[in-house]
Amino acid sequence: MKTMPINERNQLNFSGGPGVLPESVLHQVQESIHAVPEVGLSILGISHRSDWFASVVAELRSNIRHLLGLPENYHVLFLQGGATQQFSMVPMSLMAGSARPAEYVHTGYWSGKALPEARLEGPVRVVWSGESSGFSRLPRDEELSLSPDAPYLHYVSNETVEGLQFRRVLGRDDVPRVCDMSSDFLSAPGEFDRFSVIYAHAQKNIGPSGVTVVVLKDEILKDAPTTMPGFLDYRKQIEADSIFNTPPVFAIYVVLLVTRWLRDEIGGLAAMDRINTRKADALYQALDSSDGFYRARVAREDRSKMNVAFTLPSKDLERSFLASAGEAGFSGLGGHRSVGGIRASLYNGLQLSAVERLAGFMEDFRARNRSLRAA
Ligand SMILES: *Cc1c(COP(=O)(O)O)cnc(C)c1O
Repeated sequence: MKTMPINERNQLNFSGGPGVLPESVLHQVQESIHAVPEVGLSILGISHRSDWFASVVAELRSNIRHLLGLPENYHVLFLQGGATQQFSMVPMSLMAGSARPAEYVHTGYWSGKALPEARLEGPVRVVWSGESSGFSRLPRDEELSLSPDAPYLHYVSNETVEGLQFRRVLGRDDVPRVCDMSSDFLSAPGEFDRFSVIYAHAQKNIGPSGVTVVVLKDEILKDAPTTMPGFLDYRKQIEADSIFNTPPVFAIYVVLLVTRWLRDEIGGLAAMDRINTRKADALYQALDSSDGFYRARVAREDRSKMNVAFTLPSKDLERSFLASAGEAGFSGLGGHRSVGGIRASLYNGLQLSAVERLAGFMEDFRARNRSLRAA
């Protein structure tokens, strides 16, 4: 069958999410809408009870295990409800029986969204908050006073809205770590076996919306209550092999294609990280060499490689920047509605050449508008 031509007029996608996916994956997805080659049926109409779909789930689980280097005592689940549902499922399962508060690090918009959901389930202690400093930096270790008997520590590895990213694993080894990695999952290697729970929806970095990957250390569930709705009970989901009810077959298949791309075309997470680092360097370099015209939102040492958030000298210039960028073919650059400004998201699927083109556009825009700086 014919595949779509890569249209010269297609926009370059810097969206914060759902994010850009690799071109070669999109070609395979296009073909699969018509018919998955090895099945002869459209991906939109294949039974989740088929042997083929069971093999998709098995291969995806194995690809994620390999990419993350997970030992045998971890489960890998594919759930619905987005990262938001994990804001509740985590405390529902892990707070049980603990009189001590769960500990949360409040570094930005998304870690803040997890707080009220956790408080519905039990006591919560915020061990650090960046709110008073406008979420412009991350905490240093000595600023975190962590208790040895908390049921768990929760944090967000990459704050998607503000553009803050941890370069280290937080917390104590004797307290289970829970991490929302939605916006930097599979972007770089890491010490993933130091976490008890990792969750990441697909739609930022690894697929379309509809599926959330949850990685769980087996022992973490030993005290979980048995009275939860089955859908929200990790144990029931594990028993059902992520097919507790009809799963998002399409989304799971696309994530499988993305993990194959990471493995076979990119060459694994270390290679992915090298590319992501070059992309981020190219853009931060454009900010840093702009003589203060473009200003990064956050402290240099906490800058995210996934989401580059910055401002211009005035709101008017920001509006004009977004309008010209749109005309020039750069899509999705508006900052999150909660903070405004500009945000360029550089997810795995975005090519270095796209970032270089954006950096070139930014230099031109600055040259054209330099005189308006003080306005
Ligand atoms: C986008 C985002 C969320 C929200 O995820 P949903 O799937 O829409 O519930 C949560 N956490 C982080 C870090 C995000 O970037």
